[in-house]
Formats: sequence, structure tokens, C-alpha cells
Amino acid sequence: MKIKHLSILLVLLLLCSLQLIAGEISIQIKNDPKAKIISTRELEGIEYVDFETLHPVLKSHLKIEYDQNRVYYYVYGEQFLFMLNSCFYSFGPDNFNMHYPMITRASRFYVPAIFVREHLPLRLKGKISTSGKNLVINKPQDNSILTIVLDPGHGGKDPGAVGKTLKAREKDINLAVVFKLKALLEKELGLKVLLTRSDDSYVTLGSRTRFANENKADLFVSIHTNAAVSRAGYGIETYYLATSVNSSSRAVEALENDVVELYEGAGAKQRYDDLAFILSDLSQAEHLEGSNQLATLVHENLIFGTRNNDRGVRQADFYVLRGAFMPAILVELGFITNENEEAKLVTPEYQERLARTIFEGVKRFKHRYDRIRNT
Ligand SMILES: [Zn+2]
Repeated sequence: MKIKHLSILLVLLLLCSLQLIAGEISIQIKNDPKAKIISTRELEGIEYVDFETLHPVLKSHLKIEYDQNRVYYYVYGEQFLFMLNSCFYSFGPDNFNMHYPMITRASRFYVPAIFVREHLPLRLKGKISTSGKNLVINKPQDNSILTIVLDPGHGGKDPGAVGKTLKAREKDINLAVVFKLKALLEKELGLKVLLTRSDDSYVTLGSRTRFANENKADLFVSIHTNAAVSRAGYGIETYYLATSVNSSSRAVEALENDVVELYEGAGAKQRYDDLAFILSDLSQAEHLEGSNQLATLVHENLIFGTRNNDRGVRQADFYVLRGAFMPAILVELGFITNENEEAKLVTPEYQERLARTIFEGVKRFKHRYDRIRNT
């Protein structure tokens, strides 16, 4: 009998402790009668929430910079920045103290439950509120790619590269391909497509990215045509921003960046360089992985669809990609300095093929990205 009593007691104790360990947070979406339950768990005596359990309910997601120990948490279009093993997080210009650190266990990321119960409603007023012990939230926002900025390189007083045989101008080819790409993205994906220029006008490199940021674009695609001293070079290259530049990209980098000195006046280059550290650190840096994936998918489709020479996905320090708050790439459609390629680049049929293949790459990226961001 004694043993039986003891075992009942043990079971009861176990149940009690389980109750203590496995807490929960009830989250109610406005106008949705069924609440979602988030389980919490105890780690080192503190109640924690696994970010992965929040994502399906809040349509939130994480971006992790392992080398910097930084964890970005995105929810309702806002960004929280955590430092691993730190009690503090940044939101906008301010830092806040959770009193317990954000931690990782078995490659999952845990935030103190107090962040979800108390800090989220305070930081996201109007979107998340408390009702007794529960949270009431607005319908989570759609994180899909909805807006894309297309950037036809050069324009106006800046012709870009000029062909050696037909004297075709890069700025015209870029714009023609962008118009065709815009039509596909609007018609077949229903995207909102904005252009940094829609005629033969001059636009500075800095204002192209600023335009994308101000319009809260989800993607930025800059379209260019390549040039080389040798007439032999031909083929397609797709770029995203480099944090450290490899020498093979230097020539193209100079080609696209030198327009600043030529057309934006004295001191312009210095201004871009001064901004480089701050901007690339804060903005494009957290989108490099997305930019890499977008560049890879667009490039694969370009090469497959055109059967052109594959010159690879590359990284370069293009001024026009710095400071973009979204995945951003630059496509070099082909070498205007190569006789055969120049002849192809000016034909509407080949321009259509280029637009179609870039479109297919963007489409694949969007499908992948939307699924990750909305689950
Ligand atoms: Zn160019």
C-alpha cells in the first residue's frame, strides 16, 4: 500500500511539475473565435518561447547573422534586433531590457516569455494588446513579395556603354528589357512594378535605391549591359553586393560606379564611400542571403533560357546596390562591345527572351520566399 501511495504521489508531483514547466500563451486573432495556444518551456528556471512556435501565428520570421551573434525578428513589418545571450534588444532607436537573455538550444532560438507577454504589446501598440493573460492580435500582415522596383541602368546624359559596331547605347537596351519585364511581372504575377526611370532621363545612383526604399519595395532589380576593352568577351553575369570584393569583378564594378564621377560631379564618389560603411552594414547586409538566392535563380534561368555564355553569379561593390533595404541584384545582360552580342541585344525578340528568363527567376524566388515568410 505504501509503495502504491508513494507512486501516486510521485505521479501527482510529476504532473504538477509538468504544469509548471509547460506553460502556455493564448493568442487570439481579432474576429477569429478560436484562440491559438503557444506552449512555453522552462530553460534554466526561466519560461521561454521557441520563436518557431510564434511564426505560424504571427506570420513572423527570423534572420540570423551567426558571425555577429545577431538575431533579427520581423513581425508586422517591424524589426527587433536581439543579441544572442543578451537580455537587451533594439527596437527602432531604443534598447529594452527583458531581464533574461535570448538563447539558443539545439539550433532553435528562444526568447523569454516575458517578451511575448509584455514587451510585444508595448512595442506593437495597436497591433497586439493584452486581455487578461491572453494576447489579442490584429490579423497578421501578408509578407509576400508584392512590390518590385526595376532599375534600367544609366539614362539621359549618361548613355552607359556604347556598342562598337552598331553604336547601340546601353541605356536604351536596359530600358527596353525593363519595359518587357515590367509587363510580365504585372500580368503574370500581379506585382506592383515601379521603375526608377521610364524614359531617357538621368537618375543618380543613390536616388535609385532611395526610391526603392521609400516605396517599400520587396525586391530591387537593376538592369545593365556589359562592356569590355576586348571585343571577344560575351555572356551574362548576375551580381549582388559584395562585402569584400574579388578582383574579377573589379572591371565591371568600375564600369558601373565610374558614372558617379562622370555625371554626379566632384565629391560624389567620396559621398558614396562615406555612406558605404553605414549603409551596407545596416541595410543590404541583412539581405545578402536573399540577394544571393535571387541572383542565383535569375541567373540560372537566364543561362538556361538564352543558352548564352555563363559568366556566373558574382559579387561586386556596386554603388547602386548599397543601402537597399531589400534583396537587390544587378544583371549584366551581355557585352555590347561584342559584335554578335550587340546585334542580338538590339532585337526585340532577344530582349523579350531576356525579360522572360529574368521573370522566371523572380517568379521562382517569390514562390520560395513567400512560402517561407508566410508559414
Ligand atoms: Zn551599366
